[in-house]
Amino acid sequence: MPGKVYIEGAIVDADAARVPVFDRGFLYGDSVYEVLRTFGMRPFALAEHLDRLEGSARRLGMTLPDRATIERATVETARAAAEPDVYLRIVVTRGSGPIGLDPALADAPRLIVIALPLKLPEPEQYERGVEVAFVGARRNAPGSLDPLVKSGNYLNSVLAIAEARRKHAYEAIMCDAVGRIAEGSTSNLFLVRGGRLATPALSVGLLEGITRRHVIGLARGLGLAVDELGLWPVDLHDADEAMITSSVRGILPVVRADGRPIGSGAPGPITRRLMAAYDRETARDAEAGPASGA
Ligand code: PMP
Repeated sequence: MPGKVYIEGAIVDADAARVPVFDRGFLYGDSVYEVLRTFGMRPFALAEHLDRLEGSARRLGMTLPDRATIERATVETARAAAEPDVYLRIVVTRGSGPIGLDPALADAPRLIVIALPLKLPEPEQYERGVEVAFVGARRNAPGSLDPLVKSGNYLNSVLAIAEARRKHAYEAIMCDAVGRIAEGSTSNLFLVRGGRLATPALSVGLLEGITRRHVIGLARGLGLAVDELGLWPVDLHDADEAMITSSVRGILPVVRADGRPIGSGAPGPITRRLMAAYDRETARDAEAGPASGA
């Protein structure tokens, strides 16, 4: 398998990376993580991802290695992968220890950085859009494992994507306990209605996507109004346009939901404007050149 992994302080071939079976990330999903990609060999929005990683760890009462160590491991693993652009996954588990849920049993946090060749959706999926499906699996309530935490505990999302695939959809859209739209299994959702952009408010219970934040900023920069609010499945079915966002995929148009076309059934003009603006932003970042090892 191509790719490199930083583990136990060293960078090894992806095939050779091993985690002990008593690691709490393996046993309980007791870990936090981030996924990002490089543009022009620079990890895009790395500072924002590290901020979110710190927020996730804080909410779980987990200690992280110091930020400079994580940053250096990320940049150096990306470089070692020796690919034009890479997928990056930064994982910190609470560590290993005797079996038992009590977090005090953990020894020390374990940092892992995975750098793999970047695999994007097909060009056709960007040009023609993808289909999503609403699924029965609910996004967890903010009062339990807060969806703002990007933790290694993704079973709800695993069940959600499995259900979506059974329905031949590309992405699952999950709702909260009362049926409001939360987000995709690994993406945030945006709608266009009457020339305005709309996306579920964070108070519904969802991950604050880094791409979501960038898209909101880009939209406002283009003079588009952005509403963060409660949305229901009917709002997606009745939307003029829709799109999902994530760090690896960027902006991907959504043209069908539950087998029914959204708007014209093709990527709409506002989606295309936002995709172009996002491409410009990431290209500008890439122009700064490869990241230094610091
Ligand atoms: N929601 C969930 C549940 C996710 O896993 C992801 C992917 N990290 C996103 C949204 C999109 O977040 P980002 O734009 O930071 O990649």
